[in-house]
Amino acid sequence: MTESLENLREKIASLEKELQQEKERNDSFKKREKIAEMSSEVVDSNPYSRLMALKRMGIVENYEKIRDYTVAVVGVGGVGSVTAEMLTRCGIGKLLLFDYDKVELANMNRLFFQPHQAGQSKVEAAAGTLLAINPDVQFEVHNYNITTVDNFDHFMNRISKGSLTEGPVDIVLSCVDNYEARMAVNRACNELNQTWFESGVSENAVSGHIQFLVPGETACFDCAPPLVVASQIDERTLKKDGVCAASLPTTMGIVAGLLVQNVLKYLLKFGVVSSYLGYNALLDYFPSMVVRPNPTCEDNWCRRRQQEYAAAEAVRATQAATAAPQPQQQEEAVTHEDNSWGICLVDETPTEPRTDPAGGTSPVTPPGAVVGGLAPGIRVAYDRPAADGAEDDSDNRGAVGSSAPPAPDVTLEELMATMKSL
Ligand SMILES: [Zn+2]
Repeated sequence: MTESLENLREKIASLEKELQQEKERNDSFKKREKIAEMSSEVVDSNPYSRLMALKRMGIVENYEKIRDYTVAVVGVGGVGSVTAEMLTRCGIGKLLLFDYDKVELANMNRLFFQPHQAGQSKVEAAAGTLLAINPDVQFEVHNYNITTVDNFDHFMNRISKGSLTEGPVDIVLSCVDNYEARMAVNRACNELNQTWFESGVSENAVSGHIQFLVPGETACFDCAPPLVVASQIDERTLKKDGVCAASLPTTMGIVAGLLVQNVLKYLLKFGVVSSYLGYNALLDYFPSMVVRPNPTCEDNWCRRRQQEYAAAEAVRATQAATAAPQPQQQEEAVTHEDNSWGICLVDETPTEPRTDPAGGTSPVTPPGAVVGGLAPGIRVAYDRPAADGAEDDSDNRGAVGSSAPPAPDVTLEELMATMKSL
């Protein structure tokens, strides 16, 4: 009897200790209060002092403007979750998160999610973590697949009305892992005239890319065979067969970093925003290029945006009343020799500068550019049937075809600066 009383006392003491530890742990999770205004004050308690220092360093003119912006992240997996975390830590105004997956233990080789979140929806789990990191950010989460008809309509609605001022979001980031979802984002953004970024990581985990898409001005995802690491293999099928894509937290973290870096440059207007930036992990090589739109793109919203862009450019050109007329250029169908999926490693040896279809040497062709004006190390994902007239006109920089829109506002200096950084 005495012994069992002693046991009970011990048990109570141990439980009390456990309770105390749990209380302390909870206290450490206490969320900070919202901060009304971003301050540059250099004190340990200011979560924005290091970011606001970008102003003092002369990099960003008005960092606090980041609070006015809304970013939609489609796909909250290996790249999207890290992207959302970076934007949250940077103090973005609002984040819209779209995903229909659940957190799985099989995701733990990547950053962001934790084992105790297994089974939760990715968007709910992400919003919980992110809100604790920065309560100043507004979150709107949608746990659905954007490719179904009803969800697509709702997705369009949120992209066009989901900002802090109930207008269009400032940028859409595609961080999805399949072709259908990329096409859905492309379709929505063309119709809504919405600027977006595409991103991807290869299934062998050692390459990735980001691509900046401005409807009418740059190639859309449907304009040319995608220069992406897209797979038409259904992931569920892969899982069924006991096979799955490889992934590394390193490659995904790097691609997310490149993506958010360019989003910050775009939103806060500093530096040069990359048009297409690839990453080859085996060589630590970063090919970069500009991809122009295809006048015969199958997406009619894309063609309409191209016409609008061409018209606006014509007006700008007239206003600027610049001198020398640009030479006309024959359109040339490009045959892609390679038909496999994914961005693969190709010959890295620099070759002679490419001669452009107009006969001259393109002044903006990067050294070592290969077939069809693709930067070395980049391949198209697949061939288009010749009948649809699709072509990769990434080599049309600086030239105007009969029906092609004028060259984009990318200066030679900007391109050279981008290339220099390779
Ligand atoms: Zn297009």
